[in-house]
Amino acid sequence: MEREERVRRALAVSTDTKVFEMGRGMLEKVPVCWDRFFAGRKAVVIADVNTWPAAGNRVYEYMVAAGIHTQKYIIDKKEFHAEWKYIEMVDKILDGDMEAAKAIENDPDHVEADAAKAFRTPSDSYPIAVAVGSGVINDLCKLCSHHHGQQYLTVPTAASVDGYSSFGASISWQNAKQTFDCPAPVAIIADTDVIANAPKEMTAAGYADLAAKVPAGGEWMIADLVGAEAIIPDAWHILQDDLDSFLSNPEGVAAGDPEAIADLFEGLTLSGFAMQAARSSRPASCCDHLFSHILDMTHHRFNGKLQSHGFQVAIGTLTMCAVFDEFLKYDLSKIDVDSLVAAWPSLEEEQERAMDVFRDFPAPSLGYDNITKKYTSADSVRRELTLFKEHWGLMSAVLRAQVWPFEKMKRHFETVGAPSDPSDIGVTREQVRDMFPIVQLMRWRFNLLDLAKRAGIYDSLVSSVFARGGAWEI
Ligand SMILES: [Zn+2]
Repeated sequence: MEREERVRRALAVSTDTKVFEMGRGMLEKVPVCWDRFFAGRKAVVIADVNTWPAAGNRVYEYMVAAGIHTQKYIIDKKEFHAEWKYIEMVDKILDGDMEAAKAIENDPDHVEADAAKAFRTPSDSYPIAVAVGSGVINDLCKLCSHHHGQQYLTVPTAASVDGYSSFGASISWQNAKQTFDCPAPVAIIADTDVIANAPKEMTAAGYADLAAKVPAGGEWMIADLVGAEAIIPDAWHILQDDLDSFLSNPEGVAAGDPEAIADLFEGLTLSGFAMQAARSSRPASCCDHLFSHILDMTHHRFNGKLQSHGFQVAIGTLTMCAVFDEFLKYDLSKIDVDSLVAAWPSLEEEQERAMDVFRDFPAPSLGYDNITKKYTSADSVRRELTLFKEHWGLMSAVLRAQVWPFEKMKRHFETVGAPSDPSDIGVTREQVRDMFPIVQLMRWRFNLLDLAKRAGIYDSLVSSVFARGGAWEI
């Protein structure tokens, strides 16, 4: 299928985004797109010290030249993560109170306000956000526009994440990375000259974020079979039908070839549309992303620097490919369902385990809350295991076709310049191993590790990844 047709179909099922334009020299088109959705409103171009010279200044000039009442706000930081403090800052920008926004930006001891109280009464006097930047700026503008009851327009500056077009914003609040529900931008104007000029490591990070959809798709299949979260055909096909082809040219992506980068950016954008169609992040992430969330929540740094979302996700993705490799060596058609059901712990036992696993974690009740939400009774476990036992032949073949072997994923990451070993982001293999109990419990979403728990293979499965000859041999 040609790109235009793919995008047309994706827009047809995406609920929020009405325009996705990608090509060379696209910045000039921002005012035309603005008029279609926001004629008569004030604009504020929000950028940071990197993205202002990369594209923000030109977007601003084109808008002013077109007679649009346009302000600008440049975040005076080279490095910042999507933390609640910056949500409060952008909320002030959209209130039109630039001074209050700067005060929050510059306050090192800022105390987070109540997230529930961030909503404003919509008003035509609020400026509309034009987000010029990578994932963080876009996520900030997405949630804050929602707080103001209005839409926004985004101009991506790097193919670094899938979040431009996704439903929801991933923000750290009260020490926990959380996805806040909020609509995607109404328009995405992607200038491939700008995106191809982004730092190479940002593009490599985007490649890894897209590659995460490979094992995440496998885990969705598992959740679908047990009936925990059904596959939504529209959301699945938008992304998964062409996923391998979007990932097929890591050499081109590494070389900055505009066509390869356009493919990558399209894949990331379609992944966001898939999330819009599903109204959740299920199509785009599972355990692969949870490793990254742990690193965010523990403020992991390497050589003094926070590691990008995509680089962290690269390690989660490789790890999950390795887990799938080991998982597919088991024969679940031979499991003894009765004895596994008899050994299934009670909810209280699981809650106690969760409190123990999360004792020293920044969010100590996170595991407890999520296992309480996703715990299923022994009767359900019997049904789930029986389904796997009966369908193992087909299911294992389908999963093998979906999830790339660890070695293949590793080669692609090496080629594209993404991390291919935990040490590349300053994490030891022991640390990865120790994250597993947290990963299994930290999200209500049914994952491969939940299945391994039910099937009585969790311990041997995880240790095989770190054993002699395993992917992350210690
Ligand atoms: Zn991601």
